[in-house]
Amino acid sequence: MSSSIFDIYTIGIGPSSSHTMGPMRAASLFAQKVIQLAPDAVASIRVELFGSLGLTGKGHGTDKAIILGLQSRNIKQLGTREIAQYVNAARKDRQLPIGGAWLVSFDESRDLIFHRDRVMPLHPNGMRFSAFGISGKESLVCEYYSIGGGVVVSGEASKTDLKDDIDSPFPFSSAADILRHCRRQRTSISQLVLENEKVTRCETAIRDQLMDIWNVMQDCVQNGCRREGILPGGLNVQRRAPLLYQTLLRSPERTLSDPLSVLDWVSLYALAVCEENAAGERIVTAPTNGAAGIVPAVLHYYTRFCPSATDDGVLRFLMTAGAMGLLFRQNASISGAEVGCQGEVGVACSMAAAALTETLGGTVEQVENAAEIAMEHNLGLTCDPVMGLVQIPCIERNAMGAIKALSASRIAMRGDGLHRISLDAVIATMRRTGADMSQKYKETSLGGLAVSVADC
Ligand code: SF4
Repeated sequence: MSSSIFDIYTIGIGPSSSHTMGPMRAASLFAQKVIQLAPDAVASIRVELFGSLGLTGKGHGTDKAIILGLQSRNIKQLGTREIAQYVNAARKDRQLPIGGAWLVSFDESRDLIFHRDRVMPLHPNGMRFSAFGISGKESLVCEYYSIGGGVVVSGEASKTDLKDDIDSPFPFSSAADILRHCRRQRTSISQLVLENEKVTRCETAIRDQLMDIWNVMQDCVQNGCRREGILPGGLNVQRRAPLLYQTLLRSPERTLSDPLSVLDWVSLYALAVCEENAAGERIVTAPTNGAAGIVPAVLHYYTRFCPSATDDGVLRFLMTAGAMGLLFRQNASISGAEVGCQGEVGVACSMAAAALTETLGGTVEQVENAAEIAMEHNLGLTCDPVMGLVQIPCIERNAMGAIKALSASRIAMRGDGLHRISLDAVIATMRRTGADMSQKYKETSLGGLAVSVADC
């Protein structure tokens, strides 16, 4: 598997990268295998979800994702209304066009099984897809794992498949590698990333793709500031971004006299993105859907509040943040089901802190320090979504993560980059803390806030 920053930023739909986008991708991979078989070898499909997917998949929209993925629908080109139409048609007819080819039977109540008490061996987010012929004989079985950020590996794969298989000019598997390359080359982290990415695509394509990502992030903030109402799922969470946006617009003078009003804007950007995510709208993983608000919020802060901001700075921001995301993915995890929310909001916070520091002119040592500070103070953060929905605590937590990223960056920029605990040490600590964490706090909704909210 490649280690491209474009694995960290995926354009898709909410509410969850590991529980929505990953399963959709797995279902699509399975469907593509199915259509290699003869049509009479596949008359029906069964999908089994294990571990965290079995426990919280319904709240995370895994059921809809599976239905869309089995049809191999191109989610990037679909609006939310079309998505709903495809899902509803499959549910009503109890069949769907597998891989966009022939119709197979798929009765959700029978063929989509949420195992609440079974876990597959390699990762908490396991899936098994089975195809059956007309006679009912099993014709194909595939197992996949959704390991975070929408990334899927097959059952034969393991974490080692995340190692870099691109012949990069500046390979890195640790922050120490990054620092060494940057010092030797006298260059920045974003420049290092750019040179690595140029192995697989030209510079123009890299810049265009990053701008596409930034455009989707901006659309997401704009839409989130406009769309009012209650978020889906039954928790009756009111969208807050539109009212906050109107309040900030209505009182510009008061805003000017309040030096902390910038924090309201940063919170607004994060809330807007996360409410869009919770509503199943278009989103960019950064590095996951649940934590998708932090990188755009801090990037909006950079473009709206920092006088030195440029388009080039936006690209450098995304490249630096992407490099940090890769470090966490490779050396720990970006999956709440594996290490708790420290792997989602914690990682996004660290990515944003590092990226802001680089774009504001920090040294590579300060960038590494900012990433380290941000994660250090997210260690142990649990994942306990109420009702299995990516709403409480997720939405506000992104606003808090964005503010924390600003603070981490400012603390690092006030220093000289020298510090006791390295980013690599914090990443290793995060991995071990995640391993020690009770399963109750790893996206199972069996502990924490998820069981503390009465009458939700
Ligand atoms: S609590 Fe954190 S890790 Fe868990 S679903 Fe929410 S954002 Fe994701």
